[in-house]
Amino acid sequence: METEEGRTPATTKRDLRFAIIGAGMAGILSAIRLEENGFHDYTLYEKADRAGGTWRENTYPGVACDVPSHLYSYSFAPNPEWSHRFSPGDEIEAYFERIAREHGLEARTRFGEEIERCEFVDGRWHLRAKSGLTDEADVVIAATGVLHHPAIPDIEGLEDFGGALFHSARWDHGVALDGQRIGVIGTGSTGVQIVSALVSRVRKLSLFQRTAQWIMPQENPPYSEQEKAGFRAHPEELQRLHADISKLFAEGFANAVVDADSPQMKAIEEACRDNLERSVTDPVLREKLRPNYRAACKRLVISPDFYDAIQSPNAELVTESIERVEAGGVRTSDGRLHELDVLVMATGFRADRFMRPMQVVGRGGRSLDEAWAERPVAYLSISIPHFPNFFMLNGPNGPVGNFSLIEVAELQFDYILQLVDELASGACREVCASEEATRAFDAERVEAARKTVWTTGCHSWYLDDRGIPATWPWPFDRFREEMARPRPEAFERLG
Ligand SMILES: Cc1cc2nc3c(=O)[nH]c(=O)nc-3n(C[C@H](O)[C@H](O)[C@H](O)COP(=O)(O)OP(=O)(O)OC[C@H]3O[C@@H](n4cnc5c(N)ncnc54)[C@H](O)[C@@H]3O)c2cc1C
Repeated sequence: METEEGRTPATTKRDLRFAIIGAGMAGILSAIRLEENGFHDYTLYEKADRAGGTWRENTYPGVACDVPSHLYSYSFAPNPEWSHRFSPGDEIEAYFERIAREHGLEARTRFGEEIERCEFVDGRWHLRAKSGLTDEADVVIAATGVLHHPAIPDIEGLEDFGGALFHSARWDHGVALDGQRIGVIGTGSTGVQIVSALVSRVRKLSLFQRTAQWIMPQENPPYSEQEKAGFRAHPEELQRLHADISKLFAEGFANAVVDADSPQMKAIEEACRDNLERSVTDPVLREKLRPNYRAACKRLVISPDFYDAIQSPNAELVTESIERVEAGGVRTSDGRLHELDVLVMATGFRADRFMRPMQVVGRGGRSLDEAWAERPVAYLSISIPHFPNFFMLNGPNGPVGNFSLIEVAELQFDYILQLVDELASGACREVCASEEATRAFDAERVEAARKTVWTTGCHSWYLDDRGIPATWPWPFDRFREEMARPRPEAFERLG
């Protein structure tokens, strides 16, 4: 008998215990899928006091997803209530919390428990939390996030600032914004969303730009009550919408960025260039906003209103480099002091940290720090040689970019489940990718990555220390194909 995904379920011989680390989108997904597949012995560990991950942490004004909401939803939990094509962060957080609640996951989650060590001893993972709590599991699912550790810029004098200073993922909602002078450092998706959301509320908004960004124009219409009622009455309509948008994104974007010369890539570039030419009237400002690299080389920023916002009389685009932060504001290289009450670091995340600082010790005492001494590597972003029965969701070098990481995590989890079946059926007791398969995969990945749009001459968080994009360099269809079934020869099995 086959499951809906075409998987032949194992005849269970061995009861497995699972530890899922992280109760964000991927951890919630893991628990639901385990339960559905008859694996009931699991605990979720979450260091915060509630589920939601990214969407619990990022509460800055204007936060929203930048893939359509009906795609940024679990395939098994379409949501007729999304308010907008790109819905705001609080709705997304509420969605994940609701799904977790409906599946009874609150009772299965140990909140406030940060796992600081996982060690593989005598065929089992031994976990220890900061609190001193310990647990053992046969299988660990690391769902610890990719954009999770805020990157704090190395700017002299940050600690001298006299006003309120915080990272966008640590927004201080106690700080008044209305009528204040706000500085925003960073022009990625977050910086752009903050500027658009705040400009009409504040006295002065200074955006400190190191690198200009291409902006893809994208309207964000609300769904009418009539449309939502239609979705409620016809859930199959929502499934179709999910599938249609997924196809559109894969063909129009995900496949385009891995072929820098594709017609789709040219169309994206054209749309961005046209947006800049049409929307920014002052030629001096327009040139300041014009990137000197190709569109989508950095993660593409989408916005319906950023160019309007930055042209507001109370907004200023500051392109002189930041020299230092002082008590009164930000001093730029031209000697000018930009006086500020609030300074926001929209400076992104340390995307190479993954589950660290958690210590992970695999077979034979091999630590993750040793395995990743050069940089994070994993077979298909899921499994690390010598770390048996330890699987990652949204791990190193996986698909990122402007499409839904939910779809990515769902495909990854179904792949992991097939390896788990091998453990449950007694086919083996330990499974992880072989060194050889991992080396070959990574060499091929690096070669392909050199041909993507991410290497066409910009600095971005996709690039590793060698300037190689740390992401999936092939069309999304290839990812789907790889995820359909593990290649037996790529894995090392014991027992
Ligand atoms: C501002 C912003 C906008 C984004 N927009 C999009 C978008 O439009 N589309 C898209 O696909 N993606 C987007 N992303 C990426 C987003 O991170 C993923 O879509 C998704 O939320 C990741 O889910 P996750 O469960 O893998 O990780 P997270 O949501 O980061 O959750 C990880 C969880 O693990 C917990 N954790 C970590 N370490 C430990 C530990 N040692 N012990 C216990 N708990 C631990 C954390 O507290 C957290 O709750 C965005 C990210 C950001 C920051």
